[in-house]
Amino acid sequence: MKPTNSKAVFQEIKSKLTMDDSDEIQAVALVLMERYYGLTLTDILSEKKIASQDLSTIIARLNLHEPLQYVVGEAEFFGRKFLINPSVLIPRPETELLVQEILKTNLTAPRILDIGTGSGCIAITLNLEIPNSHVYASDVSKNSLDTAMANSKKLKADVSFILHDFLKGSLSIDQVDLVVSNPPYVRNSERQLMNLNVLDYEPHQALFVTDDDPLLFYKAIASKGKAFLNPSGKVFVEINEKFGNETKSLFESYGFIKVEIIKDFDQKDRIVTAQLT
Ligand code: GLN
Repeated sequence: MKPTNSKAVFQEIKSKLTMDDSDEIQAVALVLMERYYGLTLTDILSEKKIASQDLSTIIARLNLHEPLQYVVGEAEFFGRKFLINPSVLIPRPETELLVQEILKTNLTAPRILDIGTGSGCIAITLNLEIPNSHVYASDVSKNSLDTAMANSKKLKADVSFILHDFLKGSLSIDQVDLVVSNPPYVRNSERQLMNLNVLDYEPHQALFVTDDDPLLFYKAIASKGKAFLNPSGKVFVEINEKFGNETKSLFESYGFIKVEIIKDFDQKDRIVTAQLT
């Protein structure tokens, strides 16, 4: 017989999930209850009468280790829900830190360019958090850009999206005050250290760089970025924790000053900031 109250449905979902860790099962089941029944834990425990839905396909995908955010089609970033699909990376907590560091600069009405926007989480959050900001966001992938545009519409942001390969050709935009990017930075040789749920499901184009040129995106940002950065412009990039000092030296070699490395929650080098003058 189908369970007909919220607590019984919740128990049934938990009994069908096969992750090793019971805390994870609880957390995943709670997300499913929220997403498909609109219920919080308090609602669930109050044994509300509900019509149970067939979540067997969803549960099967989760049991095959597909990331929860792809299965439910959304992920939270900076307190907002973004539409997510396998054409874009799932937003990471480190990237929230990048946004937080930018917000600390207190720029007024800044013009911002986000390179490799993916889901648009950085560009859209900055546009919504900074009054009168004008944000451009580029990506090489049409599917990513479609996702970012859908997010911008859903969250009522106002971002100008550009389909563009930053490694090739130039971008014709007016000068900006800030360039931000979370480019691909994981070396191919680091693949074996990654979780299978990342490796098997997330877009490799957004993750990997070759071992012989791991900083190529930062080189492109440092060299081309100068052309459209204001004289007082700043750069904020997320980086591979192994390359803090190399990325810092790279920006310095292109004439940037006040180049700083910011550590993440695990005390790993995660962000580099630099300015032109
Ligand atoms: N931090 C991400 C990861 O380890 C990588 C993000 C990126 O390559 N920009 O999965």
